[in-house]
Amino acid sequence: MKQPSCLDCVVIGGGPAGATAAQQLALAGRQVLLLDKAGRIKPCGGAIPPRLIRDFAIPPEQIVARATAARMVSPRAAQVDIPIEDGYVGMVDREHFDAWLRERAADAGARRADGQFERLERDPDGVRVVVYRDGADGQTRRVRTRSVVGADGARSQVAAQEVPGADRGRWVYAYHEVVAVPEQRPADYLPSRCEVHYDGRLSPDFYGWVFPHGGTASIGTGSADKGFSLRQATRELRQRAGLAEATTLRREGAPIPMKPLPRWDNGRDVVLAGDAAGVVAPASGEGIYYAMVGGQLAAQSVDELLATGDVRALARARQRFMREHGRVFWVLGLMQRFWYASDARRERFVSICRDPDVQQLTFDAYMNKRLVRRRPMAHVRIFFKDMAHLLGLVRV
Ligand SMILES: Cc1cc2nc3c(=O)[nH]c(=O)nc-3n(C[C@H](O)[C@H](O)[C@H](O)COP(=O)(O)OP(=O)(O)OC[C@H]3O[C@@H](n4cnc5c(N)ncnc54)[C@H](O)[C@@H]3O)c2cc1C
Repeated sequence: MKQPSCLDCVVIGGGPAGATAAQQLALAGRQVLLLDKAGRIKPCGGAIPPRLIRDFAIPPEQIVARATAARMVSPRAAQVDIPIEDGYVGMVDREHFDAWLRERAADAGARRADGQFERLERDPDGVRVVVYRDGADGQTRRVRTRSVVGADGARSQVAAQEVPGADRGRWVYAYHEVVAVPEQRPADYLPSRCEVHYDGRLSPDFYGWVFPHGGTASIGTGSADKGFSLRQATRELRQRAGLAEATTLRREGAPIPMKPLPRWDNGRDVVLAGDAAGVVAPASGEGIYYAMVGGQLAAQSVDELLATGDVRALARARQRFMREHGRVFWVLGLMQRFWYASDARRERFVSICRDPDVQQLTFDAYMNKRLVRRRPMAHVRIFFKDMAHLLGLVRV
């Protein structure tokens, strides 16, 4: 009897991770289906570094604003303005950016389906089946596939159903309001400057932000403390930014994972990518770049699995990611735990950001995703300055 047809891969979730994985698999000549539930705009500040724009060939029309400076604000309202030399932080609107990424995957040859993933099953012949509810007619559909990429975001159902340890994730809850920037801009608002506020009143363990997006701005904050009112804090931040009266276009929130999951695969035919794998940089909450890298690595692993049948290929997605980015994640995790722990420390943190060496290093790490080794003396100087701050030898 003829077996029903079987795809090479179903990618579940069409955000930056899933759309990238589907595009890469299609480019590798694989038969891939990108399943995404339509109708929701991902809540996101939309800030992306030049490395992402370069590596993933993002066209200029997707960049709705270019930030050429960042302002850090301390609990006592001290401000440190950091120019972004030789480049800019790009701002994307996720409504259009994600749609464009999915379109690009389709152009590369991926099939697309609008529907809500429900569960993974296995046919009697051992083949994987993805069960989903079709977005158009509400019918249950079943798709047979040789592999699955779970890229369905921070509360991944694929991870919960398939990957051991998925319940050990840690999250910050983030909330933002998208406002229309009035023609008569507030005196201290610059469309080319991101603001980052370190202040216990705005977040006890993360930070608040004001990100310009051309005609709109994203104003928000995050915290792992469930008792902390993010809405109240965002109201306060809007007040400080002079945008309390601006028209609110959207109010929305979502969890941000804070720790890569211990495993990203089920050892057989499923691998996770992006928020589903817990991959967002601690301290900064930056996730789009890492989601796209994760999508690329998941696609590479799946391609190797399909070519060789060796299920160990799936675990290589995590190994390769951690080899490249594990150290930065570790340092950022320490930074968040230490510097975001009290207002006294936040005050010191903003103060050390005045240092040109610190500015150069942190910006190179963010913009280009590398820890600069060229300037060892700068590291030594920063180490001694940090120690002086930690020991309270420096007045702020
Ligand atoms: C408020 C906020 C602000 C942020 N700001 C920034 C920022 O400025 N810069 C930055 O780099 N990162 C930021 N992040 C983090 C960033 O948004 C995420 O890390 C990134 O979107 C992860 O991409 P992803 O593809 O893994 O997941 P998502 O972008 O969450 O995509 C998941 C996709 O899966 C789909 N999906 C989910 N469940 C199902 C299902 N059952 N069936 C079918 N489809 C499903 C969803 O529709 C969605 O399209 C922010 C996050 C939040 C919450």
